[in-house]
Amino acid sequence: AKTFRLAVIPGDGIGKEVVREGMRVLEHMAEESEGKFSFESDYFPWGCEYYLENGKMMDEDGLEQIRNHDAIYFGAVGFPGVPDHISLWGLRLAICQGFDQWANIRPVEFLPGVPRRLNHPDVDNLNWVLVRENSEGEYSGIGGRNFAGRGTGNEVAVQSALFTEKGCERIIRFAFDLARTRDRKKVTSVTKSNAQQYGMVLWDEVFARVSKDYPDVETDQRLVDAMAAEFVLHPEELEVVVASNLFADILSDLGSALAGSLGVAASANLNPERRTPSMFESVHGSAPDIAGKGVANPIGTIGSAALMLDHLGLAEEAARLNNAIAETTRQGILTRDLGGTYDTVEVTDAIIQNLAKVKEQAH
Ligand code: NAD
Ligand code: MN
Repeated sequence: AKTFRLAVIPGDGIGKEVVREGMRVLEHMAEESEGKFSFESDYFPWGCEYYLENGKMMDEDGLEQIRNHDAIYFGAVGFPGVPDHISLWGLRLAICQGFDQWANIRPVEFLPGVPRRLNHPDVDNLNWVLVRENSEGEYSGIGGRNFAGRGTGNEVAVQSALFTEKGCERIIRFAFDLARTRDRKKVTSVTKSNAQQYGMVLWDEVFARVSKDYPDVETDQRLVDAMAAEFVLHPEELEVVVASNLFADILSDLGSALAGSLGVAASANLNPERRTPSMFESVHGSAPDIAGKGVANPIGTIGSAALMLDHLGLAEEAARLNNAIAETTRQGILTRDLGGTYDTVEVTDAIIQNLAKVKEQAH
């Protein structure tokens, strides 16, 4: 029997509601594994409420408190009353960058039974994966504001994007390695090297060099604005899409909306060397507009639990959980964001029930 130590950080808003449901699914799966695996979960109350009480999003030694866990299961941060840059940098980015979780994978999956936002002849068979550079780029945190000019109408602010050859190379190699595991082996690189002549041109050069090591993988390149259109017009061209921190973030909201809703998109922030724990979270934020109502779609966060199971070496369980999610949407058990009438708990209950059903089908 293997016991996995989870650091659970529900965070703010609907983060709390969906992580509670994700943990219910994981505990259920552990229980029915009959001793094959179990979870020892530590909960951390970090987030905006913690900030308002303690003046910090997480403890100073927060990273040390979770460094030895096998994985981090994360909800979302952000709530009215705390500036978004404080909540993001104080917790989520502190963990991603502090643990060098430099690869963020964000699958775009078109689940059955979900209303299609995309008019495409092969919409049921579309799926691609975004690989987001997760440690530098536009999220380098380098810049400053001209405080002398503050309030004068002449203030100047600089926000720099940092691209290192090593940072570009590792994420691009990661994308090529991932492409090799898929049926269609193709990587599309996204930049804006017409307008951004330093960092993006370095990225392009690294992409050209690394691609020579993968002659079996088809390559393509797009400017990010054209890629936004491609998501809608020719999504059949997409397989593995690799992009910088900001561009991939924007494209992943577009991808999840096309696939139905922000609420269905899962993600994994990986430290591929496994020197530090990786973090699993939905793509969406804390959704203050629906927080506390019990109507949030839990699928993104439960799908992130499937990515976590896979990362922990439980590939079969991960596949079964994904099948149970797909069976649930196929049955029309959908939250409001997908045009349904079910609530967060009901969708989770159905997923748990369908775990048994897909198990029988597999036998
Ligand atoms: P958001 O993702 O929270 O919400 C955007 C829209 O999608 C809202 O209308 C919301 O109701 C809807 N939505 C999101 N998730 C849903 C779900 N599971 N089920 C149903 N509907 C869902 O983005 P936002 O409104 O731009 O940001 C809100 C807060 O979240 C901000 O403070 C922002 O900084 C933060 N944020 C945090 C993360 C994170 O922690 N990873 C990511 C994005 C935004
Ligand atoms: Mn985002």
